[in-house]
Amino acid sequence: MRPGIRTAASLVVILAGVLAAAALGAACGQNSKAQDSGQVKVTATLGLFRDLVQQVGGDRVQVSVLVPDGTDVHTYEPPPSQIAKLSQSKLVVMNGLDLEAGLEKTVRENASSSATVLELAAGLPTLQDNPHLWLDAQNGMTYVERIRDALASIDPAGADVYRANTDRYLGELRTLDQQVTAAVESIPPERRKLVTFHDAYPYLAQGYGLQIVGFVVESPGKEPSAQEVAALAKDIGDEKVPAVFTEPQFSARILDLAASDAGVQVCSLYSDALDSKVKTYVELMRFNAQELARCLGAARG
Ligand SMILES: [Zn+2]
Repeated sequence: MRPGIRTAASLVVILAGVLAAAALGAACGQNSKAQDSGQVKVTATLGLFRDLVQQVGGDRVQVSVLVPDGTDVHTYEPPPSQIAKLSQSKLVVMNGLDLEAGLEKTVRENASSSATVLELAAGLPTLQDNPHLWLDAQNGMTYVERIRDALASIDPAGADVYRANTDRYLGELRTLDQQVTAAVESIPPERRKLVTFHDAYPYLAQGYGLQIVGFVVESPGKEPSAQEVAALAKDIGDEKVPAVFTEPQFSARILDLAASDAGVQVCSLYSDALDSKVKTYVELMRFNAQELARCLGAARG
């Protein structure tokens, strides 16, 4: 009996193996077919948006990025080598509201006429037309839903995958939103003050309850006058700002000087650009939350 059972059992195992292999073969066949023709080619202006598209699209999308990590989006102009990928994309994902002022014309002129150009911030309630909506995670969630809808309409066969990926990721973003809220709540109210390099944080401030005291430049590429820097240094002192925040993609000499005049520490916040330390949207928001709590929180001991 025993050897017989073992044989039967082995047969079942072998059969299961054959079926699994067949299923795997079918799946692989589908995948390589997708790579030839079906994988949706996407161009995103920022690494941040590439991450969001990747979260929603998974293996069904192939995403290239126009603005290299660590580079300023406001002033970046893409070289001709990037135009080919752009023109092959079925979906172009950008923020809009003039965030991509230096490359929007290139995008419009070189995107395929059949491509969808998705402006993530279009039509959302804005603060003085400031483009940095994603620094409030609530807006980040809306961006993700818009990417889901755009991908589902370009690639209806993937709609279920996009929906499932989005549901999972939105859960992560809700947790993230709570973490940022908790981090700011850990700061004494009179210390919840922001001085930054560029005007990127009105949505962070509004969403989580911080006060913007000032910034060095409204938009990168403009040099502040000596009077503006002096006025900012005075505000830092008058408002008893505990720290100022530079951004990794900008040289912060002016802010360093203003901070040392006022005798406050220099910390950093991420805004538009990812880098080798902060590689995803979630990591960016989490870094900012921790840095805010660390630098503005009550001095201990
Ligand atoms: Zn910016």
